[in-house]
Amino acid sequence: MEHYINAFTDSFWGSVDWTWKSILFQVPWYINYFWGLILISLLIWGLEIRFPWRKQQSIFRKDFWLDGFYMFFNFFIFSIVISGFYKLLELGFADLGLSSKSLVLVDMSGLPLWIQLIVFFVVLDFVQWFTHILLHRYPFLWKFHKIHHSVKEMGFAAHLRYHWMENILYKPLKTLGVMVLGGFEPEQAYIVHFLAIAIGHLNHANIKLSWGPLKYLINNPVMHLYHHAYELPEGKYGVNFGISLSVWDYLFGTNYIPEDSGTIGLGFPGDEEVPKGFFRQIIYGLGKWGKARPQKWP
Ligand SMILES: [Zn+2]
Ligand SMILES: [Zn+2]
Repeated sequence: MEHYINAFTDSFWGSVDWTWKSILFQVPWYINYFWGLILISLLIWGLEIRFPWRKQQSIFRKDFWLDGFYMFFNFFIFSIVISGFYKLLELGFADLGLSSKSLVLVDMSGLPLWIQLIVFFVVLDFVQWFTHILLHRYPFLWKFHKIHHSVKEMGFAAHLRYHWMENILYKPLKTLGVMVLGGFEPEQAYIVHFLAIAIGHLNHANIKLSWGPLKYLINNPVMHLYHHAYELPEGKYGVNFGISLSVWDYLFGTNYIPEDSGTIGLGFPGDEEVPKGFFRQIIYGLGKWGKARPQKWP
C-alpha cells in the first residue's frame, strides 16, 4: 500500500516541480511547454490581428479570456492534478503483469528517427480522430464535448476550451497507440506535440487558410470552422472530425466544406443551456450537478 501512496505523491509533486521549473526557464527550451504554448499563442494571435478572416471580429473576441484560462487549466493545472492518478493506474497494471511494453506490434527502434516521429504523429492523430467521433456519437460523451462546441466566436484560444473529462476520454486510445508503437514516445516527440499545438491553434484561428492542395492532408481553419457549425447537414451528428490531419475525414467521407465565407453560425441547437462561467462548466455533465440534458439527435 505504501508504495502506491509514495508513487502518487512523488508523481504529483514531480509535476508541480516540472511546471514551476518550466515557468522559471529551468528546463531545456525545446520541452518547455509553458512558454512554448505562450509563444505559439502570441504568434497565431498576431496572425489573426494582421490577417483577420472575419474582419468585424474583435481582437479580444467573445470569451477570449475564458479560453485563455482554459489553455493553462487543461495543459498544466489538470495535468498536475491527474498525474498521481495516472501513476497509480500504471502501477496497478504493472502489478497485474501489464506494462506499456506488453502490446508492442511495431518495433520502431531500428528505424530512422524522422520515420519514427511521422509514424507516431500519424497513429496518435488517427486514434484522436476516432475518439473525437465517439464524443459526437454517444450522448454520454457528447455532454462533455459540448463545452468545446459552446464557442460562439472562433479564435485560436478556443482550441483548448474543453471539459477536463476530455483529457481522460482521449487517454485510453492514445495510450494504446503508444503501446502498439513500442511502449514509449520517441525521444524527439516534443516536435510532434508542438506541431499538434500549432495546428490545433491554427484550426481555430480567425485566419482564412486552407493549405491549397495540402488541405486533403492537413486540417485547417476553413475545414474546422464547419466542425463547429450550428447547423449540420441532415442526418449527421458531426463533420470534419480531424485533429491535425484532415485526411481521415476525406478517406472516410466525413468531410464537409460547402463554402468558405467564415460567417456561419457556431454552436449547436441547445447551446444556451451550457453555463457561461468556468467553474460551472467544469462540473457540467457530471451527474445531477451538471444538468446535462441529452442531446436530441437528428
Ligand atoms: Zn467536436
Ligand atoms: Zn474545435
